[in-house]
Amino acid sequence: MSISPVAEIREKQDITREQLELLLTTEDEKLQEELRRVAREVADEIYGKQVFIRGLIEFTNYCRNDCLYCGIRRSNAHASRYRLSKDDILSCCKTGYELGFRTFVLQGGEDRFFTDERICDIVSSIKERYPDCAITLSLGEKEKSSYEAYKVAGADRYLLRHETADCAHYESLHPTEMSFSHRIQCLWDLKDIGYQVGCGFMVGSPGQTMDSLYKDLQFIKELQPQMCGIGPFIPQKDTPFGEEPAGTMEQTLRLLSVIRLIHPHVLLPATTALGTIHPRGREKGILAGANVVMPNLSPVEVRDKYKLYDNKICTGDEAAECRACLEKRMESIGYQVVVHRGDYRP
Ligand code: SAH
Repeated sequence: MSISPVAEIREKQDITREQLELLLTTEDEKLQEELRRVAREVADEIYGKQVFIRGLIEFTNYCRNDCLYCGIRRSNAHASRYRLSKDDILSCCKTGYELGFRTFVLQGGEDRFFTDERICDIVSSIKERYPDCAITLSLGEKEKSSYEAYKVAGADRYLLRHETADCAHYESLHPTEMSFSHRIQCLWDLKDIGYQVGCGFMVGSPGQTMDSLYKDLQFIKELQPQMCGIGPFIPQKDTPFGEEPAGTMEQTLRLLSVIRLIHPHVLLPATTALGTIHPRGREKGILAGANVVMPNLSPVEVRDKYKLYDNKICTGDEAAECRACLEKRMESIGYQVVVHRGDYRP
């Protein structure tokens, strides 16, 4: 009897181009169910029935970049811009700490106002107050020396989605002044410095193909990131891709499972974008092999301004409501939100 492709991928922790195509296109319900179940089994073996939470603080939506998919791109004149002050950020952390968050993620556009000095000051102030917490930065492409300075100031992890591992595809999603090779170089620099690193991509971004997805998976195998963020592309009406179709939940779930199988220990979030395209998207993400959720800690006044895509969920909810809601959602599927840093388990 021949061994199933899912068992083979699990065994080899690798996938062929043909297997990927099969798993992403099959209409065989049994095979789809097996993919989800085995991916979840692998996650359970490493992380148990625990889900890690990260408090996301979207601290600026000013951005010097002009990525074609993103609602906070610099040429979007409809975006209402804001920056949080250091005090605002510290107060988000205080609320978050009381709610049981032990990782804070500072995410923003590439905003020159936040010089290295300002970032380092914010990072070290958070670390000083909450030494038991991990700090994740997601500030885009910087010089290696800047990444080094943030690390010295106390940052532990860095998220920088590669967006696509196919150079031509990358160029079709970004303006000419951005470069694929620089983005990839940043990820290697971050690894070299000793960050826990996260790459990732959007599912169903315009122009994505089976070949580009296969390259994404090969890149993950090569980089061996501690984290991987994937979520569906969702059009934002004031961008050049405003009329493009969104990525689907189905493809996102299948890819989450595949990533769990080929890179078993990775910290894999069920993203807000996944929760946006389906009311139970995040629960389904966990059941497909994800093990992290990242509720929003940003002040409610700015929530709806950090609009990377349309119809983003939870923009009216206080942090405490988001925390309680996610805890219930996870419990409804037999998982427990835990109060600790939630580091990568090698
Ligand atoms: N400036 C930072 C943070 C970017 S926002 C950086 O460059 O890393 C975080 C992620 O949101 C992006 O990496 C992108 O993958 C995702 N994103 C942006 N626009 C999106 C859209 N329209 N739909 C879904 N995800 C989007």
